[in-house]
Amino acid sequence: MATDENGKFGRYGGQYVPEALMAAVEELDDAYRRYVLENEDGFMDEFRARLRDFGGRPTPLQHADRLSERYGFDVYLKREDLLHGGAHKLNNALGQCLLAKYMGKDRIVAETGAGQHGTATAMAAAHLGMECEVYMGERDINRQRPNVFRMRLNGATVNPVTTGRGTLKEAINETMREWATTVEDTHYVIGSVVGPHPFPAMVRDFQSVIGEEARRQAEERIGGLPDSVVACAGGGSNTMGAFDAFVDDESVSLIAVEAGGSSLDVDEEAGVAPNSASLATGQEGVLHGARTKLLQDTTGQILESHSVSSGLDYAGVGPELANLVDEGRVTPTAVDDDAALEGFHRLSQLEGIIPALESAHAIAYLERADPDDLGEHVVVNLSGRGDKDLESVVEETEKRDIESAPEMGVFE
Ligand SMILES: *Cc1c(COP(=O)(O)O)cnc(C)c1O
Repeated sequence: MATDENGKFGRYGGQYVPEALMAAVEELDDAYRRYVLENEDGFMDEFRARLRDFGGRPTPLQHADRLSERYGFDVYLKREDLLHGGAHKLNNALGQCLLAKYMGKDRIVAETGAGQHGTATAMAAAHLGMECEVYMGERDINRQRPNVFRMRLNGATVNPVTTGRGTLKEAINETMREWATTVEDTHYVIGSVVGPHPFPAMVRDFQSVIGEEARRQAEERIGGLPDSVVACAGGGSNTMGAFDAFVDDESVSLIAVEAGGSSLDVDEEAGVAPNSASLATGQEGVLHGARTKLLQDTTGQILESHSVSSGLDYAGVGPELANLVDEGRVTPTAVDDDAALEGFHRLSQLEGIIPALESAHAIAYLERADPDDLGEHVVVNLSGRGDKDLESVVEETEKRDIESAPEMGVFE
């Protein structure tokens, strides 16, 4: 869906930014319309060619034989884990870096939480010969060393953010501030379908290649559309990327799987939501330039979110997804930490694919879904691979009694 003239999806979205950023988002909106929507100067052709040659697109749509046997319906995995960098994030990072080039800007700033988006942006910037600075919470820098090394190896500068809790929320604030003062030669590559208009629509358009390919591949493979598409949702970029091509097909159920964390209950006193399920449990508010569903207390303070998977650990969600949920087009559901870890081990053992912990939420949903809700042909977006998560999976598995988990033998 397009936004209205105010950059809104129904009641959500918009441009809630300080005046210093208004010129920047308007300039970006103009470039988005010309290059992305109207393919001026062949922008989209170059984008698609680079996604193919540098990114490795199209990614396969694979029939998951053993999962299908287990559930009695056909499971197809959209293998974004095979995209360069190991996750869907390159689609967006490459699109935005290339757009910056077309806008005559040669410097990139980006925020990152776990480091996945920073890594994808550093790769895209190196590929296009651009300068890249990544803002990352100090706490996250210490938790995600390998991604910090990857960014530096690709020539990016990693700047620690020390305000607040030193995590993603503060990193986004800091990057927006930095962007406001350097907008002349700098583009801010935001990491999901969040932020002020045009970011949510633009990031969706760069990610929508996932669903476009899956739709074509499903038509070739099963001679028609799938009955349902399942994707995990943090900010919601792999989600909107997988859903967008199917939104107008009422026969296709769209299911967004959020991180249920350790519980769906909120501890207002402590300012903590032990989950990241903003679609399922959030309240309407404004964060990072957009009106959307948020984890917040009754005074509007953002709650500290939680998920075993750092890529889903965010208090907000994309405004278009919030609107699609209100319209009843997208069904939100949540899978907790324990179930996600079980899904991680299940896919590794049954299919020989180690998923990202984020993607493991979508896999885990299959186990407890009502098969009638899913239908005969189910596409699951496997948003990324799990190499980055091995250490935390070993640690988190040890803490729990997960029947299907193997003996790792590393803590003896
Ligand atoms: C970052 C990430 C996510 C969550 O981001 P969305 O914007 O919600 O897609 C999901 N899966 C993987 C593999 C990620 O790296």
